Parts: sequence; structure tokens; C-alpha cells
Amino acid sequence: MDATNPATGEQIESYEEHSASDVDDALDGAADAFEDWRDRPLRERTGLLADAAEVLRENRDDYAETMTREMGKPISQARDEVEKCAWACDHYAEHASEYLAPEGHPSPPEAEVRTVYEPLGPVLAVMPWNFPFWQVFRFAAPYLTAGNVGLLKHASNVPECAIAIEEVFEEAGYPDDVFQSLLVGSDLVDGILEDDRVRAATLTGSGPAGRSVASTAGEQLKKTVLELGGSDPFVVLDDADVAAAAETGAWARNLNSGQSCIAAKRFVVHTDVYDEFLDRFVEEVESLTVGDPMDEDTDVGPQAREGLLEDLHEQVSESVDAGAEVLTGGEPMDREGAFYPPTVLVDVPEGCPADSEEVFGPAAAVYEVDDEAAAIEKANDTEFGLGASVWTEDRDRGERVARRIDAGCTYVNQLVKSDPRVPFGGVKDSGYGRELSGAGIREFVNRKTVWVE
Ligand code: NAP
Repeated sequence: MDATNPATGEQIESYEEHSASDVDDALDGAADAFEDWRDRPLRERTGLLADAAEVLRENRDDYAETMTREMGKPISQARDEVEKCAWACDHYAEHASEYLAPEGHPSPPEAEVRTVYEPLGPVLAVMPWNFPFWQVFRFAAPYLTAGNVGLLKHASNVPECAIAIEEVFEEAGYPDDVFQSLLVGSDLVDGILEDDRVRAATLTGSGPAGRSVASTAGEQLKKTVLELGGSDPFVVLDDADVAAAAETGAWARNLNSGQSCIAAKRFVVHTDVYDEFLDRFVEEVESLTVGDPMDEDTDVGPQAREGLLEDLHEQVSESVDAGAEVLTGGEPMDREGAFYPPTVLVDVPEGCPADSEEVFGPAAAVYEVDDEAAAIEKANDTEFGLGASVWTEDRDRGERVARRIDAGCTYVNQLVKSDPRVPFGGVKDSGYGRELSGAGIREFVNRKTVWVE
């Protein structure tokens, strides 16, 4: 398994993949660890989670550099990501007991009936490279605290991150094998999922990977949570603060070098403010600094792998061949590394890649619509349903429009973001299940009814 720096193309390190027998040992370890871990008092598990938050903060700069080296995230965003992981740990350390408190039910006078939340066992987590720390802590903080144990199969291009995350839990003092990283390719996932020692799976990644894991888990009747791709609309209505929408929109598309599931990808703009928005948006996009991701001032770094840049450029080129016009960007940059400039497309024809596929890089499609109804229709004209952002000075109107968009989360006058306090997840081809908040920690538990009389 090779770690390659996408800003330079240089190989950083090569790791030997875990063999079938290593995986078998890991599953044994996970099953044994679960028997002890599930019985530890919740207060002990939350205490260890708070310690994990401290380890993250103490080593923030090292972890950030590991991410930036391996997948090219601008360093300031990588540091923010580590801080956010610590925040998620703090959040569950503080709130897990309330989220997992038994729930009482109406019952006959002689009985007491409650739902209690018990862990399921070893959970397999198949994770992507784009937020290589955050995606993992988003599952590990709640699920471990609920008493499950974790087996991480991270993306093959971020093995150093996978190893560093395992070390966070070790350093925090977690018992052996409560969290393990398996350095394996995706070809081993089905076998691991079919193993009786694994009780459930969560996957964050693309639709094909999600379908594959869901189908194997379905055969085994194992619970899954799927956090898949998105093509989020960013709707600018006629009464929006256009300057704020353009500024936030440029950032919402280009954060993490455009490689975010909840990036704003399709900008749906009311005709009355279309020209003004477009001028401001292009200006904002062009003002972003593209460069070495280790530089403090860099806003947009390289794409995480050379092949991803090629896929992105193919989507842009095919869209242009179909009739889209490039207002800025549109060609790979003439420099070392997998750099693609922030790109804006207009006159995007229906059904071309920029319109109908997930564009996982810094290329925005902008549409002009005649009215609110047409904006809602265009926002929903996608197979995805992850997030949506709506811009209007009228909060009631914003909420009304937001509620008519088919998505797992909708934000008014704000970019779509994940927050440990708030449920996160998608509908349609963006997946199912929720992470974060109380909803997240209760995904991988047995909601057991206990009737006592
Ligand atoms: P990906 O190719 O689907 O990979 C994600 C993970 O799945 C990796 O660990 C990968 O392993 C594994 N995988 C790939 N094919 C598999 C298969 N057939 N069976 C089992 N596992 C498989 O996705 P990516 O390119 O890393 O990530 C980008 C995608 O993730 C985008 O679509 C993005 O929108 C989505 N995403 C969604 C969210 C969300 O919260 N909804 C968050 C972040 C990203 P290998 O690396 O070994 O191939």
C-alpha cells in the first residue's frame, strides 16, 4: 500500500498490506475485546474518549501534516479537521450518557417498561480519504462509546492516517483491540463483512462501494449505515444577500480542494440576481490561492490522486463538449502535482456530467432559473440527496424552500456542514442512516425492550 504526495507525485512510504491471517487475528482480537469493553461502565468509556480528544489536540500539527502529505489537504484545513475530531470526542464524552439513557414507556401499573441501548459488537468501518481523520472519528467516537469495537478499513491512499488514528486510541489508553486499523484493499471487505465476528458496517464513500457493502451486509442480515456521494444544490433566490452568497458559495465549492461530499456543486440562481451573482462568484473563485498545501496561505491544494484529476477533467471536458461554457479554469494546471484550478461552468446542458454526476473537485455548475418553483425543481433534479443550501433574506421563505428540497440536511444562509450536535446523512443515492448527535450514537445499538413486573 503506497502513500504518495499528490502535490509532488513523490512516494512517501510503502506499507505491507495485512494478510488474511493478520485479519483473522484482528477479528479474534476484536471479538475478545468486545466481551470486556461492553461491560465497562459508560463513565469509563467517556473518560477515555475525553483523553482521545487531548491526544488529538497535543499532536494536532503532526496529524495535520500527515493528512496534507498523503492527500494534499491545505494545512490550515487539516489542522481544523483535527480540532473538529477533538470536538466530536468532547461532545460524546459529555453527552453519551444522556443519548444512551434508558427510555421509559407507558405500561400497566404493575410493570416497568424501558428501552435500553446495548452495543452490537465489532463494527467494520470502510472510510474514504477526503477527510481522513474526521470521517473516522465521526464513527469511532460514538460507536466505541456505545460499547462497540471498531475495525477500520481506510482508503488505500491514506495508510499513514490509518496508523496514526489507531495510535490516538492507544495513546489515550483504550484497551487493546477496541480500535484496529486493517491495512487491506477493498477486495477483502466482503470476506470481513461475511465473518460472524463482525456484526455491522458503516461505509462513507462512493455509490458503487456503498451498494457493494450494502448487498453483502444484506445477505448476512447485518445493519449498515451508508454515507455516500452528493451533488448539493446552492439556491440563490431573488431576495438573497448576493455578496454573501457568492463569497460563501465559492468557499462551499472549493473547500478541501473541491473534494467534499457536501460541497455545493450545482448553483441554482434566480434570474433577477443571476448576472450579479455570477460576476461576484467568478471574482471570489479567482481570488482563491491555489498552491502548495503545506503553505499557510493556500486555499486550494492538489487533487488527492493523479487519477482523480483525470476523472475530474474528463467530466469538465465532456460537459464542455455537450455545450457548457467555461468562465474560469477548465484545464489542469501546468505545474508539478495533481493541481486543477477552481472552475466555473455556465449553460450546463441537462444530462452532461457536470449536471448529473457528482463532480468531486473544484468545478461549479451555475444555472439560471425564472422563479422559486423552478429553483426547487432544479435543486431536486438529481439522483443524490445529501445537503442543500438556500439563500434569501426572508427566513420563513428560506425554511419553506429548504423543506421542499429532497436532502438529508438543508441550510438557509449558511453552507452545508457537519456538526457533532446535529444529525448528518443523506436520502436517495446519498445513502441512509445518520451519523453524529443522539441519532448517530443510536445507529449501532440493540434498542432492547425490557419489561419488568
Ligand atoms: P470510494 O472509492 O468509494 O472509497 C471509499 C472506501 O471504500 C475506501 O476505503 C475504498 O477502499 C472502499 N471501497 C471502494 N470500493 C469498494 C467496494 N467495491 N467494496 C468495498 N469497499 C470499497 O470513495 P472515495 O473516492 O474514497 O471517496 C469519495 C466518495 O466518498 C465521494 O463520492 C464522496 O461524496 C463520498 N463521501 C461521502 C461522505 C458522506 O458523508 N456522505 C463523506 C465523504 C465522502 P480503497 O481505497 O482500497 O479502494
